[in-house]
Amino acid sequence: QGLQQSILGLIRDVPDYPKPGVLFKDITPLLDDSAAFQAVVTAMAEAAGDVTKVVGLEARGFLLAAPVALALGVGVVPVRKSGKLPSETYAETYDLEYGTATIEIHRDALRPGDRVLIVDDVLATGGTAAAAASLVRKSGAEAAGLSVLMELTFLDGRDRLTDLPIHTLVAV
Ligand code: IMP
Repeated sequence: QGLQQSILGLIRDVPDYPKPGVLFKDITPLLDDSAAFQAVVTAMAEAAGDVTKVVGLEARGFLLAAPVALALGVGVVPVRKSGKLPSETYAETYDLEYGTATIEIHRDALRPGDRVLIVDDVLATGGTAAAAASLVRKSGAEAAGLSVLMELTFLDGRDRLTDLPIHTLVAV
């Protein structure tokens, strides 16, 4: 509860970003507060369970996934937007409000037997996290859970992720 309050106090609402009518949750003040950032990483790591890899989603997910992976003593794997990873990839395309997006993972980053925690900053509609879970499964690994700092419950992202345990530090 103390942690939830400090997280809420360190996430800035930015109106009309990236477009009019959207209230963007900006986590940069939290990242800049080392005590709060440390507490967030510890809480995410404690909730992770027995995982063998952490997958971070571009780009803010990277900032959380890397310290969580170090806290757990496991490797961290980037899921990136199309065309950014240098070696062979699996790709997954998903629908956005307008158009589609494609994300990728290196083909050799995960292997069967891996239990994977997916980490991102914000869970909104759930499309990104669902696509990331598909990439994990295409790699032959198990999508063991999703950990996010903040969940925007009014967008019902959970409904698209029924087969994925979700850990959220704050829900708004
Ligand atoms: P979704 O696919 O609709 O769940 O959107 C989640 C993705 O968009 C995540 O990678 C988030 O980083 C990003 N995102 C959506 N809304 C916000 C927000 O309000 N603040 C920060 N990131 C957001």
